[in-house]
Amino acid sequence: MLSLKRQKSNAVFPVLGSGQTLVFSPKVLKVFKTHRQISRSQPESGGLLFAKFDLPIIKIDIATPPQLEDRKSRFFFVSNPDTRRTVVRRYFRKGLHFIGEWHTHPQSDPTPSGLDVNSMKDLFRQSEHELNYFVMVIIGNRTGNLSLWVSLHDANDMHQLHPCGSTGQS
Ligand SMILES: [Zn+2]
Repeated sequence: MLSLKRQKSNAVFPVLGSGQTLVFSPKVLKVFKTHRQISRSQPESGGLLFAKFDLPIIKIDIATPPQLEDRKSRFFFVSNPDTRRTVVRRYFRKGLHFIGEWHTHPQSDPTPSGLDVNSMKDLFRQSEHELNYFVMVIIGNRTGNLSLWVSLHDANDMHQLHPCGSTGQS
């Protein structure tokens, strides 16, 4: 069992109503930090998220870095479903489940675009999975603490998650 108390507060996101908790591993947070769009010349980038299920803890343990070919397009890096399928299979053999995607925004408090939301609906519909939702993480460009948007998506709805402690609870 993970010790939640030792995690940074921006790494723990309770899924209200389910009793489940999303936890980002330190190495995932490091990938997010590395790719922040701090300067204007840095492209929007992103990758895939893989999780281990130790219910009620869902530990997001891998964030794949942006691929070279993704950098050509400013937006939506992992639009190639063939590449995605290959990567998803590779991690599945290691017991890691594809649970969603991350990408960066040049915003201090990132919010999803309409395109982001629609992309997640499509991803949910088109991917083979047994999940109730997919996770989308958007990395803001603050230089200090990471600013993260975290939301759950199914074929119809989006539900924003807030980090543990942000509402005065712990
Ligand atoms: Zn976006």
